[in-house]
Amino acid sequence: TAPHLLRNFCIIAHIDHGKSTLADRMLQLTGVVDSRAMRAQYLDRMDIERERGITIKSQAVRMPWGVTGDDGVESAYALNMIDTPGHVDFTYEVSRSLAACEGAVLLVDAAQGIEAQTLANLYLALENDLTIIPVLNKIDLPAAQPEKYAEELANLIGGDPEDCLRVSGKTGAGVVELLDRIVADIPAPTGDPTAPARAMIFDSVYDTYRGVVTYVRVVDGQLSPRERILMMSTRATHELLEIGVSAPEPTPTRGLGVGEVGYLITGVKDVRQSRVGDTVTNAHKPASDELGGYRDPKPMVFSGLYPIDGSDYPVLRDALDRLKLNDAALVYEPETSAALGFGFRCGFLGLLHLEIVRERLEREFTLDLISTAPNVVYDVTMEDGTEHVVTNPSEYPAGKIREVREPVVRATILTPNEFVGGIMELCQSRRGALQGMDYLSEDRVEMRYTLPLAEIVFDFFDQLKSKTRGYASLDYETTGDAPADLVKVDILLQGETVDAFSAIVHKDKAYSYGVMMAGKLKDLIPRQQFEVPIQAAVGSRIIARETVRAMRKDVLAKCYGGDISRKRKLLEKQKEGKKRMKTIGRVDVPQEAFIAALSSD
Ligand code: GDP
Ligand code: MG
Repeated sequence: TAPHLLRNFCIIAHIDHGKSTLADRMLQLTGVVDSRAMRAQYLDRMDIERERGITIKSQAVRMPWGVTGDDGVESAYALNMIDTPGHVDFTYEVSRSLAACEGAVLLVDAAQGIEAQTLANLYLALENDLTIIPVLNKIDLPAAQPEKYAEELANLIGGDPEDCLRVSGKTGAGVVELLDRIVADIPAPTGDPTAPARAMIFDSVYDTYRGVVTYVRVVDGQLSPRERILMMSTRATHELLEIGVSAPEPTPTRGLGVGEVGYLITGVKDVRQSRVGDTVTNAHKPASDELGGYRDPKPMVFSGLYPIDGSDYPVLRDALDRLKLNDAALVYEPETSAALGFGFRCGFLGLLHLEIVRERLEREFTLDLISTAPNVVYDVTMEDGTEHVVTNPSEYPAGKIREVREPVVRATILTPNEFVGGIMELCQSRRGALQGMDYLSEDRVEMRYTLPLAEIVFDFFDQLKSKTRGYASLDYETTGDAPADLVKVDILLQGETVDAFSAIVHKDKAYSYGVMMAGKLKDLIPRQQFEVPIQAAVGSRIIARETVRAMRKDVLAKCYGGDISRKRKLLEKQKEGKKRMKTIGRVDVPQEAFIAALSSD
């Protein structure tokens, strides 16, 4: 398709504002998916996405759309809809999907108004110079207030509230008008058709049958089947086995030209060989400059993953190897814990990424796992100048420390104004610094904070929701790191450190963490033949202490008389129980105690 007949757009929306439903309606109205094949949320392919209603991986789909001009002649346009992942953990992937477009449909639930994710994604769209089409969705709802929120949108992006389209993804109302608006308002792509090819990778997905499928947006030149391509960040070359468009099933084409969006198959088996943000060019006539914006995915949150049944360790290792093929951001290395046995220290983009990986491991590989409390990455500089990157609190260096740096995020919180005070309190208690505050309308406020990522990782979202009865929304983006006054707190049983419970916390919070963990463990550890002190310590200084009192636990005392077989049974039962115990020093701790202590409640 000639560039002037192409339109590349994405839909940006807060979760649940109806992006997938609207996409479904567009697929139906443009005729690419007929009603029989239609199933709800056609584009959300992964089970996990469907169940949780979140889109993790972006997809692109091409739709034909005829528009009759003023001269009465109908032109056949091709609309490429690029679905962006909706969650904060994947900001970088969102920004690459946006960079593949010229315009964005800014979709807002007419009963909810603008939310934090709407804003965060809007800012990314504006950074990429996209044309914004404001749209209010769900106008069929009785609670819809399109006038009010049209005003809010107009205040935010400028323009007239009347220019804001009103649609219902559910009934289809207004969707034809929206498709026409996309053609009319969003600029056609431009690029140099005679220049060496340059295409940006905005997604890359592993498929068991076809290997890695790479989604690209061609900026200059042309890509054709059978030619050799060069990945500019790695300098690796591959043969293009197949090239095509998703319509929405994969449809091979004779090539992709300026402005086109489609997929490439080269036979590579690992998404790391085809990275989001990278530039694809011709190997025999390479472009000299990459398209800007390539960035290596950087894990921000770490956690230890251990099989509950130690014999599952090889299954866990194979499962991680498999997941990695489709997840360039997942990193892991083997780790052993005295408390938990053999496992892996895994790095994730954020908390949701962690949850998704964990859930896939448990579901797709039927593993039962324990995960240690998530932590961020710390850069530790010692007095003698040596540096350590700490991804596991139990490996925090001993000795004289000059400085510790921790990652910091820029957070956007949207809230009805009655909750502003409560949010300020929460953010203050989490070492946040208020950067600015704006009223979007009379009763709704945007608050901007910088906060340590470590504080967000620790149940910030739940606290925010409970303080605002679910009304506030949050989005954040990592912005760098900052020095902080941090210490490592160890938890000791009978003088032995339990590695799985070590945590790096702010100096002012060391005491409350120590008291909390010692208290929890006191209730979870069964009485032993001897007294068991539970201590929390910073270095050699004890900051909290609890005691599990001794108990003479003689199972045989229960048997009167001499029933030998009954005695034997009891002894065997006791031995059985021991098997699921881990021994810390002389103390037997049931595995359930670790699981319970590590689960946040
Ligand atoms: P997404 O998270 O933005 O992809 O949102 P979904 O498309 O999954 O929609 C979230 C919820 O809103 C679902 O329960 C939809 O059925 C519902 N929904 C979406 N669009 C409409 C609409 O136009 N009207 C009504 N009444 N409900 C809608
Ligand atoms: Mg969705």
